[in-house]
Amino acid sequence: MHELLEECTVHGLDSFGREACKAACHAALEFVRQARREGKLEMGVDEAFWQEVRRRLEVVPQLQLGPAINATGVVLHTNLGRAPWPEEAIAAAVRASGAALCEIDRLSGKRGRRDAAVSQLLAQVTGAEAGLPVNNNAATVLLAVSALARGRKVVVARSELVEIGGSYRMPEVIAAAGATMVEVGCTNRVHAKDFAQALQDPAVSMVLRVHPSNYRLQGFVHEVPMATLAELCQQAGVPLVYDLGSGVLVGQDLAGLEQEHPVRHALQEGCDLVTFSGDKLLGGPQAGLIVGAAALVERLRRNMLTRCLRLDKTILAALEATLSIHALGGEAALQRIPALRRLSLSLEELKQRAENLAAKIQSLGGRCQAQVLACAGRVGSGASPTEDLPRYGVCLQHAQAGSEEIAGALRRATPPIFARVQEEGVLLDLRTMADKDVDFLLDFLQNDLDGLL
Ligand SMILES: *Cc1c(COP(=O)(O)O)cnc(C)c1O
Repeated sequence: MHELLEECTVHGLDSFGREACKAACHAALEFVRQARREGKLEMGVDEAFWQEVRRRLEVVPQLQLGPAINATGVVLHTNLGRAPWPEEAIAAAVRASGAALCEIDRLSGKRGRRDAAVSQLLAQVTGAEAGLPVNNNAATVLLAVSALARGRKVVVARSELVEIGGSYRMPEVIAAAGATMVEVGCTNRVHAKDFAQALQDPAVSMVLRVHPSNYRLQGFVHEVPMATLAELCQQAGVPLVYDLGSGVLVGQDLAGLEQEHPVRHALQEGCDLVTFSGDKLLGGPQAGLIVGAAALVERLRRNMLTRCLRLDKTILAALEATLSIHALGGEAALQRIPALRRLSLSLEELKQRAENLAAKIQSLGGRCQAQVLACAGRVGSGASPTEDLPRYGVCLQHAQAGSEEIAGALRRATPPIFARVQEEGVLLDLRTMADKDVDFLLDFLQNDLDGLL
């Protein structure tokens, strides 16, 4: 055993500690013996032994949910996990992963409020009276309708009965929350008088507005200005809840975000509650954030669903870190929150980076060819669905393989690289790639790609 443990060092496994190595060696010895007895050993004894030791020690590299490289140019790619976390959020989550000041008051030693810091920061960065975080934005609407309109009626414009994806449809959410939906207006047009008429029904106890995140109405359309609707709701004594989706705090002047509605602005226009996601344009972990009037937030907080939809301590810590960066101001947020940094990269920078990458691929001298293309990307996650983000990409071609084959091989890299498949080649978008991703890609193209084609 002593010799085996020495060898663990040679295999670079000593960081797992002596005891773990010892246990893994014991188990691997047993495994190899048995495999040999049963004639199931498919490789040399030595190789089989060390493979088994590794399998037992290195749990993390084998996990299904591992990292990936986003070369798609879609900054908030839902299937690739949306916003990449700020460094500070990652550190905060790790710090909170053991015993943590999660729901305890350090001065009295008594039970405290789990979301106190995040709620206070939410109010601070949006200008709201109060805030409340839950599991995701889909949950905020369920909670708001349930807490404010269960057994009663919710008024919604017909043009806003959105399906978000993943079978999340507004009419079904309202029904699931136990309220009856009252549709007003037509598909393309809704007027103040439509809302005014619906609000005369005393059974109505909430008006819901939904930001058209993933679609746009164009042509013969009309909607009611938010301030007008807010006034109607106030006169009727009915809360106006706005599901904003992405919820911009900073960067509304960035290319591609012109149509997004800043949270602060929606509150100033008179919305009583505004809800948005943590992992869209806020740039943090998955969460659903509710801000607005203190009395309404309190009603939501006391609802049973809030307990069902609560956040994990590590997510709360990551959220607190992300919001703390926002609290430092717009400049800090644009620099330190990766999603916002990526959205604010200038065309000049992108072109420069694309030219560098194309030149490096060319200089590998293999069978890959690369050229710089000007094209258009997307923000993603339902933010600004029709607005093109101007960008430069590198179009990758191969002497012996088509686009689909190249893309397939890139996805079999470890970590997998996701890029856009086009007819003329695979498009690598530098907007969503970190410098280390570019280095990894070059290494992969040089050493592994041909073997995987
Ligand atoms: C994205 C979005 C949601 C869902 O938010 P999640 O955080 O993904 O649950 C709900 N409503 C709107 C308008 C959205 O854009």
